[in-house]
Amino acid sequence: MASDTRKILYVEDEKSIRDAVAAYLEREGYWVRGVGDGRSAVEEFEKHTFDLVILDLMLPKLSGERVCRAIRDTSDVPIIMLTAKGEVEDRIIGLELGADDYLIKPFSPRELVARVRALLRRAHAEAEPSLELLDFQDLVIDISGHKVLVEGEEIDLTASEFKLLTTLARYPGRVYTRMELVEKVLGYDFEGYERTIDSHVKNLRAKLGDDPRNPRWLYTVHGVGYRFEAPEAEGADGEAEKE
Ligand code: CA
Repeated sequence: MASDTRKILYVEDEKSIRDAVAAYLEREGYWVRGVGDGRSAVEEFEKHTFDLVILDLMLPKLSGERVCRAIRDTSDVPIIMLTAKGEVEDRIIGLELGADDYLIKPFSPRELVARVRALLRRAHAEAEPSLELLDFQDLVIDISGHKVLVEGEEIDLTASEFKLLTTLARYPGRVYTRMELVEKVLGYDFEGYERTIDSHVKNLRAKLGDDPRNPRWLYTVHGVGYRFEAPEAEGADGEAEKE
């Protein structure tokens, strides 16, 4: 295996699908470790280093949900969740658990590969050093260190949430449509995935402690998308009562 071959953990209990999709991914140049249940997935993930995880939601032994949680406890590896058609709530749950993207079954292997590529490209771009620091006092985004501090406390963001926040915060006041955010954050421009952005924004708000009804940073622009606002610098006169 070439040293730059990307390694994928692929968790799918239906063997015929797993074999077919794994073969497709391998033809595209990826190294694929396929497993058929949730427990093996967690074990494999602990033993080896993967660049990306493709995770079916409905799995024997340990659900995709639990696997996703277990992986997120230790890693921000890109995760693509696979859900059956109609499991709308399930795919939203997937994103709330910290998956970066989801695909509804049945999907075309070609579309899966497009998603895999986009996520890997993004993860790779993020790994490259850049010396940017966005400082909004109570909110500090250290882009080179891949860290976000809210009132001095570091918070844990997934790769998608981090990308979403930095995209918005680089240009305070600029309104981004959901479609633009899909493109910038998820790295592709298929239509119909705006809901994904809503889920990421919801998670990001929860982690930042930003109340959508009374936002400090992230504003909903109804019918359009989102924008970031840098709060005015606090004067020395009034705001001392916090703590
Ligand atoms: Ca399944």
